[in-house]
Amino acid sequence: MSRPPAASTVLSFEEARRVVEQQAALIRAIRIQSSKTESVDLLASAGRVLSERVTADRDLPPFPRSTRDGYAVRSADLSALPAILEVIGEIKAGERLDRIPASIAGGQTASIMTGAPVPAGADAVVMVEYTAPLNHRIEGHRVEITRSVAPGENIVPRGAEAREGALLLDRGFRLNPAAIALAASVGKSRLPVYKRPRVAVLTTGDEIVDIEATPGPTQIRNSNSFSLAAQIQQAGGEPLLLPIAPDELQGLRSLIAEGLKSDLLLLTGGVSMGRYDLVEQALSEMQAEFFFTGAKIQPGRPVVFGRCVPETSAVGTPAGDRPGTYFFGLPGNPVSTMVTFELFARPVLEALAGQAPRSLVFLHARLKKEIRVKTGLQRFLPAILSGEFDHAGVELVPWQGSGDIAAIARATCYLVIPADRECLAAGEWVAVMKSD
Ligand code: AMP
Ligand code: MG
Repeated sequence: MSRPPAASTVLSFEEARRVVEQQAALIRAIRIQSSKTESVDLLASAGRVLSERVTADRDLPPFPRSTRDGYAVRSADLSALPAILEVIGEIKAGERLDRIPASIAGGQTASIMTGAPVPAGADAVVMVEYTAPLNHRIEGHRVEITRSVAPGENIVPRGAEAREGALLLDRGFRLNPAAIALAASVGKSRLPVYKRPRVAVLTTGDEIVDIEATPGPTQIRNSNSFSLAAQIQQAGGEPLLLPIAPDELQGLRSLIAEGLKSDLLLLTGGVSMGRYDLVEQALSEMQAEFFFTGAKIQPGRPVVFGRCVPETSAVGTPAGDRPGTYFFGLPGNPVSTMVTFELFARPVLEALAGQAPRSLVFLHARLKKEIRVKTGLQRFLPAILSGEFDHAGVELVPWQGSGDIAAIARATCYLVIPADRECLAAGEWVAVMKSD
């Protein structure tokens, strides 16, 4: 940690990731208690982060559930086959309790459907396929059974999935379709969730213009604010786009001050070695603390991570009362901006959103064509995944470097090349990070 970053701190990818994860853990420890919550309709809860635990309101399943259509039996009755059993009833799913046989005695069975409660006395269900010869051979109230079953087979005992009161979903869980099904199964039509953190996006650069403007011959439309806004939304935050900052200290400082009023500030551009790359200088002058000022990755090497106490907070709290607002200075090249968000900003944003930590997930695929690179930087290169299972293949997207937005739009993943590898052979299994 340096202040100001006279001595720059360029970390390896793993070190930088660890620093980010440590800060994310601090955010969780300090901020979660004070995070604001709201209640949302279950139908609108996908992707939100639970702020309270969800527990089982009753045993799951609430009765011993048959998992097959067939016959509820005492498994001991099937020691000699075929066995002929007396059919004393039929149990549909949802059958009223008073219509279910009170007990299955030796030599008896009841026909039963998937999802129906297994009556007392029975300890297994024989699939209808093994009741021979199927339904037309049922003579009167008897059935012939041709397969034995182990005790417990085709039955989920009451409470086996969860006991009444058991924890089903912890706070910090990001709601996915399965979690939503679980909440529905215990009758939650609304769920308490954390409010989305506000993330200020500050694009810098004299050449950058708003997308509504007609760019001059040497000007570039601002695309980074929009890719970032989409990534922020995907990660559970609410983007707030600030005006484009000039490559000039005073204007930059005042927009940074504005951005520090949010829960997180993401800057893009102005972090490289150029004479007009002023983001670090502006932040240093504002007494920012820097955790790192670069990472040995490509694209994205100049990425900056730090924290800065706003002069006054949004609600007018004196600066000393606040732990400071985290910021990232993401490199301006559009591919670098996207990659560095995924690798470093996302975990911090997820922590601010109340989400439990999550590790980076790498898939593996076979490399289609040999790759040669220089060692020293861990690379995350835009690539295309194809095929499935053992045939999953990956190849690099031809690109003109990290400014090539058209190339990244064709990519479906990043191919990960460790910093110590010089040559990856065709046919080798390589790590891939999904990028959607
Ligand atoms: P910088 O990191 O400021 O040196 O910018 C690196 C490259 O990214 C330059 O070619 C910039 O024009 C480009 N760039 C910077 N910001 C943006 C942006 N918001 N949208 C699109 N391109 C950008
Ligand atoms: Mg710039």
